[in-house]
Amino acid sequence: MKKELRKAIIAGNWKMNKTPVKTKTLIAELIPLVKEVASQNSGSACEVVICVPFTSLATAVEAVYGSSIKVGAQNVHFEASGAFTGEISAPMLKEIGVEYVIIGHSERRQYFGETDETVNKRTKAALTAGLIPIVCVGELLWEREADITEEVVSRQIKLAFAGISSSDAAKVVIAYEPVWAIGTGKTATAEQAQDACKLIRDRLTALYGKSVADSITVQYGGSMNAVNAAELVAKEDVDGGLIGGASLKAEDFTEIIKAASDGQ
Ligand code: PEP
Repeated sequence: MKKELRKAIIAGNWKMNKTPVKTKTLIAELIPLVKEVASQNSGSACEVVICVPFTSLATAVEAVYGSSIKVGAQNVHFEASGAFTGEISAPMLKEIGVEYVIIGHSERRQYFGETDETVNKRTKAALTAGLIPIVCVGELLWEREADITEEVVSRQIKLAFAGISSSDAAKVVIAYEPVWAIGTGKTATAEQAQDACKLIRDRLTALYGKSVADSITVQYGGSMNAVNAAELVAKEDVDGGLIGGASLKAEDFTEIIKAASDGQ
């Protein structure tokens, strides 16, 4: 069993939801619930991260102060500064207290031209600034149906990590998110999630060796909720989850945190 070698992380992806005022309200609901889960698990819940819209980041950093909840962004530019109107850089995020950043989410790949190359550049920029990247990979429905999930995910992993040293790779979190399961209510079975997360770990082993691969957190994401979370996170290679819809309701999100904390 290698599960104990790595941190289970439950990260909420709020997407384009919640104004700063609503952010404050949801965090105020979450803090005592997360504390209660920790108290039921000898003082520590799994790592809990909320990835909020850019306009809510400063509010969120202030609101989580004194709690164990970490704050993440949902995207980052790969340059540190310059003529990139409308973009936000990794040093900007770091300076306001952001700790995590989602990179290459399928919605960014589908709607905003994200490629494996830009995922790689953003991952490097995040690492350079001291942010923890949550790198998203996953196949489209037709790719799964054509039985090329393995090729697609292997390629995404190889390109995302191109030119990244093993000491930096060990800091990265990966989210396996089959695109057909995101926001659709259609969850991968626990076996499908395990198979893909194991495949990712095998690819990381080929790139960096077993001890680095065994230390990297590989989450599952795609319609994870209070009901199906326990079965998914119990799998050997599934180290928590990236949660969209269910992260917007404090009770549902807490149930998922509880499942990942119990399963540690
Ligand atoms: C996501 O946005 O990364 C996600 C997994 O969304 P949902 O949980 O709503 O499917």
